Amino acid sequence: MTETSTSQTAFAPPTAFTPPTRFAVPGRIAVSSGTATVWQTATLTEIRRETPHAATFRLAVPAWAGHLPGQHLMLRLTAQDGYTAQRHYSIASAPDDSGHIELTLDHVAGGEVSGWFHTVAEPGDEVEVRGPLSGFFAWPGDRPALLIGAGSGVVPLMSMVRHHRARGLAVPLRLLVSARGPEELIYAREYGTETTPVFTRSAPAGVPVGRLTAAHLAPLLAERPTGGWEAYVCGSNGFAEHASRLLVEAGQPVDRIRIERFG
Ligand SMILES: Cc1cc2nc3c(=O)[nH]c(=O)nc-3n(C[C@H](O)[C@H](O)[C@H](O)COP(=O)(O)OP(=O)(O)OC[C@H]3O[C@@H](n4cnc5c(N)ncnc54)[C@H](O)[C@@H]3O)c2cc1C
Repeated sequence: MTETSTSQTAFAPPTAFTPPTRFAVPGRIAVSSGTATVWQTATLTEIRRETPHAATFRLAVPAWAGHLPGQHLMLRLTAQDGYTAQRHYSIASAPDDSGHIELTLDHVAGGEVSGWFHTVAEPGDEVEVRGPLSGFFAWPGDRPALLIGAGSGVVPLMSMVRHHRARGLAVPLRLLVSARGPEELIYAREYGTETTPVFTRSAPAGVPVGRLTAAHLAPLLAERPTGGWEAYVCGSNGFAEHASRLLVEAGQPVDRIRIERFG
């Protein structure tokens, strides 16, 4: 994790940051949109391995104004020569008052930013973040949520699952999560009865191997919760297309399918 890749750009700590004067009231999940325009220094405090290719990075962001489950942020790395790299990352943690947020990054082969996080970053390092961004994929916890993700596409959905648990919400929430195999299943230890994993290449004994199908969706859609499901789909372009087509074919209204693409 702390080993330095020879081809990795040397990103320097950000310059000093003056926090905005308006903060969200502690405990609230609604945020002022003004905070999304301001870059804030985030200090890496912990790295947790999730799978051989994915790890969670916990960041202290003292002036973080809060977020809604499902939102993402913009992250910026700056090299000594002033070169910057910016990428979007979903927020994995539930909204809370800890002054910390968590991101989970896949290590993309040859990836500039994910490569730095996975091979160079260590606790104490500073990066910059700006957010939260995009209300479209947010779930405030007010309606039944049918979550469908693949690979690191489960990250914003996990924020929703964690929020559902942390607040003890009674509104129905289900998660279908697709991974190549059990060892690639991000957050495997955290799933409960709300989650159905789908394994595409290898699976534990007795569990079928194959991609997401209508048969996975049918029992969940048949639950027909009061008010109907709001579906949240997140993953690569290909997965998002596939999952949303299955949903529409199964009768889920198009205007109640929200899609976030990482591709
Ligand atoms: C709204 C949003 C939220 C996102 N949230 C997350 C998240 O929670 N966790 C996460 O790991 N990623 C997430 N991503 C993807 C992330 O923004 C980066 O694209 C990813 O980390 C790769 O950046 P990089 O600098 O490491 O790779 P780059 O240097 O940009 O790319 C290196 C090579 O990898 C290819 N590549 C780039 N991105 C991907 C990818 N996602 N999968 C496969 N190949 C790729 C490129 O085409 C290029 O060939 C999100 C993207 C969006 C738009």
